Amino acid sequence: MSASLVRAAGWFAVAVVFAVGGFVLPEFYVTLLNYIGLYSLVALGLVLLTGASGITSFGQAAFVGIGAYTTAVLSTHAGLSPWLGLAAGLGITLIVSVILGLLTLRLSGHYLPLGTICWSVSLYYIFGNIQAFGGQTGMMGIPPIELFGLTFDTGRRMYFLIWIFTLAALLVSDNVLHSRAGRAMRALKNNAQTAENFGVNGGAMRLWVFVYAALLAGLSGWLYAHLLRFVNPSPFGIAMSIEYLFMAVVGGAGHVWGAVLGSAVITILREFLQDAMPGILGRTGNFEIIFFGALIILLLQINRDRGFGALFDLYKRRPPSPSDHGLPAVARRSGDQPLLSVRGVSRRFGGLVAVDNVSFDVARGRIVALIGPNGAGKSTLFNLVTGLLALDAGEVWSNGSRIDRLRPHQIVGRGLARSYQHVVLVQSASVLENVMFGAYHRTRRGPLAAGLGIGGEEEHLTVTEAERQIRRVGLEKWMNEPAGNLALGQQRLVEIARALCAGPELLLLDEPAAGLRHAEKAELATLLRELRASGTSVLLVEHDMRFVMGVADEIVVLNFGCKLAHGSPTEIRRDPRVLEAYLGGSVK
Ligand code: ADP
Ligand code: MG
Repeated sequence: MSASLVRAAGWFAVAVVFAVGGFVLPEFYVTLLNYIGLYSLVALGLVLLTGASGITSFGQAAFVGIGAYTTAVLSTHAGLSPWLGLAAGLGITLIVSVILGLLTLRLSGHYLPLGTICWSVSLYYIFGNIQAFGGQTGMMGIPPIELFGLTFDTGRRMYFLIWIFTLAALLVSDNVLHSRAGRAMRALKNNAQTAENFGVNGGAMRLWVFVYAALLAGLSGWLYAHLLRFVNPSPFGIAMSIEYLFMAVVGGAGHVWGAVLGSAVITILREFLQDAMPGILGRTGNFEIIFFGALIILLLQINRDRGFGALFDLYKRRPPSPSDHGLPAVARRSGDQPLLSVRGVSRRFGGLVAVDNVSFDVARGRIVALIGPNGAGKSTLFNLVTGLLALDAGEVWSNGSRIDRLRPHQIVGRGLARSYQHVVLVQSASVLENVMFGAYHRTRRGPLAAGLGIGGEEEHLTVTEAERQIRRVGLEKWMNEPAGNLALGQQRLVEIARALCAGPELLLLDEPAAGLRHAEKAELATLLRELRASGTSVLLVEHDMRFVMGVADEIVVLNFGCKLAHGSPTEIRRDPRVLEAYLGGSVK
């Protein structure tokens, strides 16, 4: 049976279990499951936002509030259908989240969570201080949802509606996480600069996830308002936002079902603790929050990202099967312009001139080595060429067009792909997934299409392409192993495979042979020669002189940021300046 059929059967079985549950479970459990479903929707947004993309939001409850209040106002004051309330609520959530996202997502480090706290608190006060919203008392008399003549006016009837939406959201989110977009999110969380080097527009992707999570929260708010038929500001404050984060963390922010697990654990614990704590402590109050806090600290100690999510490691969705052929080849631009032309490039850090007026070209089908002592400016030059750093002076051209003003995610489209001196792989993801990510800019499928299960053929082509590149670097045995399990030298090879998956015309490798054994270095040299033969150029930073001399057509020598020499290996070997400054006569 095919993997997708097994999956469909699994989801069907889950749906059947929930449907039967709605008929046979006692009232108490139905009520409990209603809340778990509502919370799961919000926590699910955080699985994508925080778990996958690394964006911490303390503001999700405010979006729940927008969904709840919009439908409350429209269905009571204006007498409109709750379904119009849903459309309006999601519309307003969309607009508010886009504006807030544009304002806050640019903030880095701790400022982003602080920003989310600010909007959360402001929205909370708005809910509580508008006359038409009933102030702190709230609004009553919200009508039930109606559909096809059915009135969802009991908890049991709402159960079906809540879980239809929740299961649908789980399915869509699972699809997104296991797609090109999901790979981009994990790459962004892991290292935003690397993600951008492979074509991810970080700002746009963050905004997408943020809005998606907000919409799930707004949907939850709509269901909540029509379940309780009453709203007041208290469930939409910062305390509840924190609890949503708890749920995502407890459930293990790496898997969609973690949202349900986390919501269930927190909801059931809260029930239990609210009964038990006053008996133990002898007084009433929201003491369960203390217990939750301790639980989170404990979980973070045990397992940073995964919470109880380790349970879900038992179920790993298999990667799509390969197809007959890989991705269509990237069109090679013809012409005799150099693939890379560095012209008078400088970059300083404070008083230090890391790269000082450096110029050289890399022609088609050439292997050029960039050598120089530690701190000479080699990695800085790579960062300047791939858009991670801005130039202070000079220009960078590729194929006859200027690229130094482009954003990093646009440069890979000009045929440049790179590896890093300090390996940047998603350590917990498989080698295959890491390499598949390399094809990001060659593929199109957006999160929406992925969520709806449209355009899946592209995934099969991507797998085929990635498998081919993994074989090329000799790591086929490790294909499905987490990248972090490989030795460092082999992780460098994974980086090369990932860069090759981008279909580059120029491959920039920063110390690729470090940590490789002798035989592996020889294989790497063979690979580089093959690439050259197929028309791909290589710019290579490497300390192993034997390796460099054996493989390079030309060598550029940097010293204290300045270009000291440029020539064939024979010329460089004889150059007295090079011998004195760098090689110390040690090159044989
Ligand atoms: P190489 O790769 O040749 O060993 P680098 O390009 O990494 O050298 O570094 C060149 C110089 O620039 C070093 O002195 C380094 O300390 C400095 N440098 C590199 N990146 C930064 C940065 N982001 N901020 C400040 N100084 C930097
Ligand atoms: Mg370096």
